[in-house]
Amino acid sequence: MTKNYVPTKKLADLDLNSELKSFDLNLLSKRGKAISVADYRSETGAETAAILERHALKADHKIALGYAERLQACSDRYNFYMCDDFVDFQTGETFFGFGNLLGCGLKLCPNCTARAAARNRKISLRVLDNTDLQNREHFCFITGGYIVEQEQHRFVTLTMPKIFKSLKVTSKIKKRAWDLFRKLKFTKTYFPAIIKTAEFTVRADRTYHYHLHLLAISYFVPEALIKEAWTSCVRTAFDEFGIEFEATQANVNLKLIYDLHGAVKEVCKYITKSDSWEKIPAEHLLEITEIRRWDRMFEISGRFRQTLAKLKVQDAAAAAALSSFLDNKSTFAEGMARELDYFNTDVITDGELSEASEIAEDSVEISSEKQKRKSWRDLIEEVGLDKYREIFYRQVEYTRNMRKLRLIIKYPDSTFTDLDGRAWDLVEIEAFAQRIASRGIELGI
Ligand SMILES: [Zn+2]
Repeated sequence: MTKNYVPTKKLADLDLNSELKSFDLNLLSKRGKAISVADYRSETGAETAAILERHALKADHKIALGYAERLQACSDRYNFYMCDDFVDFQTGETFFGFGNLLGCGLKLCPNCTARAAARNRKISLRVLDNTDLQNREHFCFITGGYIVEQEQHRFVTLTMPKIFKSLKVTSKIKKRAWDLFRKLKFTKTYFPAIIKTAEFTVRADRTYHYHLHLLAISYFVPEALIKEAWTSCVRTAFDEFGIEFEATQANVNLKLIYDLHGAVKEVCKYITKSDSWEKIPAEHLLEITEIRRWDRMFEISGRFRQTLAKLKVQDAAAAAALSSFLDNKSTFAEGMARELDYFNTDVITDGELSEASEIAEDSVEISSEKQKRKSWRDLIEEVGLDKYREIFYRQVEYTRNMRKLRLIIKYPDSTFTDLDGRAWDLVEIEAFAQRIASRGIELGI
């Protein structure tokens, strides 16, 4: 994950309903709902880690064991923090929030994927709000001539026929088909701005239903034409992977959008439901743990991308203006810096980035300069699982203490607990602060 993600979340940013079907939400207060979400994430994360560990032990799969360990650490109730009196520095209001001290950044992690989804929703909304719909002359398929038409927001779902392949292979084929589709002149002409996300579900026969959601600005174009274009791309991708295309076509669903916020919620969900991982065959799950880089699950292109670039520049200018009259270590400046970081959508890795940024800070005290740049997967290969565990738990402790310290500095009047309501050990944090001060380590805030 990125280095400066905002660890606290207002209730408005949580997609409560999609996560909590089994709770009677009406019976709970807002605070109660948020805690239920945290409980739920902690539980599903721990369950997934346990399933993975079971499979990994049987197969003696070291990377998967390391993966399970990291996921477990992220889902640990002690790794969560809660606070009743976070302060919104813009409005002065206080709010309840929770977060994870350490973010594993792994694709199977319900905490980290939920955080990524919230970030994607936020970016999407800003980009949509700042991109105008235009009147343009274009070829109309109905009249068979050129007309002037205003663009609309449309929601397109692209799916592929069923194949009996692992998630990794299915995902590669989907990526190839998408690459072909987005480069078509047809796509560029009729969908001048696209926000794309990928999602999958697991069918009862354990095949993967991988689909793409596009939230696009477009002119009117008949669904049948999109279907034709998409089918030809999927057919080519299947061909390249040596799979027979038996269906008559790849499916497309096209809808006009009347509720942008609702559409953004629909598009920026998690890559899959947490319970999907239970249904995935052991060997597929183990294969997933080896994937270092997933292709982009969330992608912004065309005119939306230009808007994004413009917003980045605006935000950077605003942050610079702020820090010129505020102490740059102040919470305001930090808030802006974190806001900017929301836009780092270019590189999506699976748990590798946290190593390079967050966790690497720890390397100062525990490992050599060379190890600092190593990913956790390489480290396991190199030093073995036992030694890696030792290193990892030192990193966990360091990262958690660092996060606690930053939160305390940012919210000096707030009281923090873990997910079980246990108060933080301030003496321990103070000792940690002194230790890093004596080493001259910057807090980075
Ligand atoms: Zn995580």
